Amino acid sequence: MEKDCLFCKIIKGEIPSTKVYEDEFVYGFKDINPAAPIHILVIPKKHIDSLSCITDEDEKYIWNIHKAMNKIAEEYGFKQNGYRVIVNCGKDSGQEVMHLHYHLLAGMKFGEKIV
Ligand code: AMP
Ligand code: ZN
Repeated sequence: MEKDCLFCKIIKGEIPSTKVYEDEFVYGFKDINPAAPIHILVIPKKHIDSLSCITDEDEKYIWNIHKAMNKIAEEYGFKQNGYRVIVNCGKDSGQEVMHLHYHLLAGMKFGEKIV
């Protein structure tokens, strides 16, 4: 855990968040500035700067993030209609919080596609 990291503080409960999911490795909470009707951030309970920094030791975090997203999609009822997952990585992507996070977006039809 990093002392000055916003998302580490959220995991520790030092900054409030609206929790939607939690297990041993993963924490999921509502984005404060939603870009879709459902906008959840799914993060590892270990401080990892970004996707470009992952190591073999992080395997269980990455795997469990993906499992958690499936569980959340099922629980919140958007698994069938589909959803979009975005991970910003580094400066050019516009990543603002340097604690790895997966944006899970759902509840609308996404018009614009970058890729
Ligand atoms: P990124 O631009 O990929 O680094 O995304 C950071 C995200 O964190 C943005 O979508 C913000 O709205 C969100 N965010 C920032 N502070 C908080 C907070 N305290 N609680 C929930 N989401 C936050
Ligand atoms: Zn952190």
